Amino acid sequence: MINENELISGLREEEVEKRRQKYGLNTIEKRKKISPIKIFLSQFNDFIIWVLIAATIISGLMGEKGDTVTILIIVFMNAILGFVQEFKTEKSLEALKQMAAPTSKVVRDKVIKIIPAEELVPGDLVLIESGDRIPADCIIADGSDLVVDESLLTGESVGVYKNDKYSSIYMGTIVLTGKARARVESTGMNTEMGKIANMLENIDDEKTPLKQKLASLGKILVVVCILICVVVTVLGIMRGQDKYQMFLVGVSLAVAAIPEGLPAIVTVALALGVSRMLKRNALVRRLPAVETLGCTSVICSDKTGTLTQNKMTVKEIYFNDRIYEKSIYTGNEFELLRKSFVYCNDCDYDFNKKSINECLFGDPTETALIRAFFDNGKELKNYLSKEKRLSEIPFDSKRKMMSVISRNSHGVCCYVKGAPERIIERCKYIYIGGKVQLFTSAYKAKVNSQVENMSRKALRCIACAYKDHDINESQREKNLIFLGIAGMIDPPRPEVKNAVIECKKAGITPIMITGDHKNTAFAIGKELGICSDMSEIMGGDELEKISDDNLVKAVNKIKIFARVSPEHKLKIVRAFKRNNKIVAMTGDGVNDAPAVKEADIGVSMGVSGTDVTKEASAMILLDDNFATIISAVEEGRVIYNNIRKFIRYLLSCNLGEVLTMFLSSLFYLDTPLLPIQILLVNLATDGLPAMALGVDPADNDIMLQAPRDKKEGIFSKGLGEKIVVRGCLIGICTVFSFIISMYFGLDLKSSRTVALGTLIMSQLIHVFECRSERHSIFEIKLFTNLYLVGAVSISIAMLIAVIYIPFLQVIFHTRALGLFEWLIIIFFSGFISLINSVYLYFNKK
Ligand code: ATP
Repeated sequence: MINENELISGLREEEVEKRRQKYGLNTIEKRKKISPIKIFLSQFNDFIIWVLIAATIISGLMGEKGDTVTILIIVFMNAILGFVQEFKTEKSLEALKQMAAPTSKVVRDKVIKIIPAEELVPGDLVLIESGDRIPADCIIADGSDLVVDESLLTGESVGVYKNDKYSSIYMGTIVLTGKARARVESTGMNTEMGKIANMLENIDDEKTPLKQKLASLGKILVVVCILICVVVTVLGIMRGQDKYQMFLVGVSLAVAAIPEGLPAIVTVALALGVSRMLKRNALVRRLPAVETLGCTSVICSDKTGTLTQNKMTVKEIYFNDRIYEKSIYTGNEFELLRKSFVYCNDCDYDFNKKSINECLFGDPTETALIRAFFDNGKELKNYLSKEKRLSEIPFDSKRKMMSVISRNSHGVCCYVKGAPERIIERCKYIYIGGKVQLFTSAYKAKVNSQVENMSRKALRCIACAYKDHDINESQREKNLIFLGIAGMIDPPRPEVKNAVIECKKAGITPIMITGDHKNTAFAIGKELGICSDMSEIMGGDELEKISDDNLVKAVNKIKIFARVSPEHKLKIVRAFKRNNKIVAMTGDGVNDAPAVKEADIGVSMGVSGTDVTKEASAMILLDDNFATIISAVEEGRVIYNNIRKFIRYLLSCNLGEVLTMFLSSLFYLDTPLLPIQILLVNLATDGLPAMALGVDPADNDIMLQAPRDKKEGIFSKGLGEKIVVRGCLIGICTVFSFIISMYFGLDLKSSRTVALGTLIMSQLIHVFECRSERHSIFEIKLFTNLYLVGAVSISIAMLIAVIYIPFLQVIFHTRALGLFEWLIIIFFSGFISLINSVYLYFNKK
C-alpha cells in the first residue's frame, strides 16, 4: 500500500535505517572483495620463480645452506614488493568502481538528496528523469509521459509508455523521455533484475593496448632471456665450473633479467595516474582512455555548464515591443509572461527553505526564469497552487521547446516556452499593448531582430507563448499567442580562458558544440578565445544539409557548431575522426550517448550528466568543467611519459645484467656475479626505483608538445636505441670494472664486490637519467621526485650494508672495499652518464 504521506516527504531517516537492516544493500552483484592473501600467493604463480626455488632447494641439499636461505628470503621480499604494487592497484581500481557507481535522486525527510543507488530501500521516493537508469523496481507515483527502454529485461528495444499511476518500472531499464516520482518496491536481489541475476556493466580493469603490447613483448623477452641464460650456464659448465652453481646462476639471471613485473608496473602507473586525475576531478572509467588522452587532438565541448558556469540570470526581457531590464518582474503587466514561464517550468521545489534560491532545484535555465518573477518561496507556493498541471511535453534538446497544459479557475491553458525560432514558427498571434493581435511578418521581423540583438550580447534567449483556445492534443502547440523573450546571461567559467590557451599550445583544437543561437555561441566563443570569426561557425541547419564527405573537408575550419541537436554530434565526431583526429567529446543528455561512445575519449558530466551517457563514457568530469579535460589530458601525457621512463629504465638495466654475465662467459672470465648477488641487484634496482619513476612529476614543457600519434609505438623517438645502447654500456662497464679489479691484483671476492657495486650504482645513476628524454642528468632537478631519491637511497644503503656488515658479507660473499675500489666503481658507473650527457649536449646543439 502506498502511504500518501511518504509520497510527499519521503521516508524518515530512522525508517531508512530499519529497512536497510531488513533488506540490505540495493545491489545485484556481490562485489568481489579483493583478497590480500590471494594477491600475495599469486606472486609465486610464475614458472621461473618455481624453477629458482627448486634449484635453490637442490643446491641447499648439496651443501650451500646459507645461500638457499638467502635466496628464499630474496624471493620472498620480491614477492612482497610485487604484492604491494598489485594490492595498491586493486585498491585504487576498487575505489574507482565505488566512485563510478550510479547515484539516485531521492526524497527523504522532505529533502531531495543524491545518494549512491545501492543505499536505496523499499519505500524510498525517487525522482527519475530522461537518461536515468532506474535504480530499483518501483511503481510510479506521478509523472509525465514516461517512456522507458526495457530491452535489458525484454529484449524489445522499442520504448514502453508508462503513463499510468502505479505502473511498474524496473531496475536497470532506461528512461528515454519524461520524468516521474516513483516509490521503490523492491531492491537488490529481490528486483526482477536480481531474479535473472543480470549484472550491470561496471568499470573493469580492461587490458590497455599498451599493456597488451607489453605482454607480448614480455613473452619475446622471456624467450630471449632464457636462451641467453642457457648459453651462460652451458658455457660455464663447459669451462668446468660447478654444474649446480652454474644452473643457479642461469636461473637467478633469468629471474633478474625477465621484466615480468612490467605489465604490473604499467597498471600501477595507470592506477596512480588515475587517482591523481581524480584529485583533479576527472574520473576515468576505462583504463585504456588514459593512454588515448595523451593523443587527444580535438576536444569537442558542450557550452552550457562546461565552458560556462550554468549559473543563469535573466538580464533583460523583450515584451510588449520593448526591452525591460529589471532584477525582478512584478506587476500585472507581466502576468501572462509570468504564467507561461512559471507554469511551463520543470523545477522541483522545497518550500521548507526560506530563500528562493534554496527553494529551487533543477535546470538552471528553469530556475532562473522563476527567480526573475519571485523573490520568496511563500509567494511562489501560493502562485503554483492556483493552477493544476494536466499534461506536459517536457523539454528536449532536439525540439528545443516544451509545453504544459494547465487548468485554472477560468478554464484550460497551454503554456509553451523554447528557442525563439521554434516558438515564433508556431505563433499566429502576438500579445501587444494588452491585446491579442495578428503576428504579422512585420512583427515577426521585429521580434527576430530583437533575438539577434540579445544573442549578440551573449544572452541565451528563451521565448514564451500561450493559448487558451482550441486546446486538444493535435492542436496544442499550434496557432499560439507570442508573448516575449527572456535573455539570460550565463558567464563563462573563469578558468576556461586559460585552459583554452593551454589547449592550443598543446596542439589541441577546442571546439564548442551548443544548442544555443549562433550569435550567443560566437560572443562566448570569442571571449574564451575559441574562435575569432563568424566564418568559423557552422549551424545545425547547415550541418543537416552537408554530406558526410563535404563535412570531412569543412570540419577543420570550424570552431563552433551552434543550434545543433545531440544527434548531430555523431556526425561531427565521425568527420573529425576521418581527418585522423583523436577526438574527445563531451555529453550529458541521453541523446549524447552515441557520440560519446563513438569518440576516442567519451566524456560525460558528473553533475548534470545522465546515467546512460556516464555509462557510455570513458571519463566523467566530476565538476562538469572544460578545464578538467585539459588537466586530464596533461595527466594522460604524464602517465604515458612515465611508462616510457620506467620501460627505458627496466629494460636497459636488465639488458646490462644479462650482458654482464653473457660477455664474461663469452670471454671465459670467472663468473663476475654469484646467484645471490644477481638477485640482490634485482631487488635493489628493479622494485622501488622503477615504481618511483611511475610517479615522476610532469616535465615543464609537457603541454608545449604536439599530441602523440596514436599509432606511435612505445619504443618510438629513439627509445629503443637508448635502451640498447645504455644496456650494452652498463654490461660492458661492469665487465670492465671486474677485469680491471682482477688486473690490479684484487682477489675474486673483492673483484665481484666491485662488479656488484658498479652494476648497482650504474643503474641507480641511470634511473635519474630516465626522468627525461631530452635533458641530461645535470639539467634535471634532483629533488622534484622525492620518492625516487628515497628509493635510490634505500638501494644504496642496501649495497653498503651488504659490503660492510660482516654477517651480510658472509651471506652475499662480499668483501669490504677501500677507496681505490670505490674509485673504480664510481669511474665505471659515472663514466657512462658522462658520455651520455656529452652526447645529449652535442645532440641538442
Ligand atoms: P549546450 O549543448 O552547450 O548544453 P544549450 O544548453 O544551449 O547548449 P540546449 O539545452 O539544447 O542547448 O538548448 C537549446 C535552446 O533551447 C536554448 O538556446 C534555449 O533557447 C532553449 N532552451 C533551453 N533550455 C530550455 C528549457 N528548459 N525550456 C525551454 N527552452 C529551453
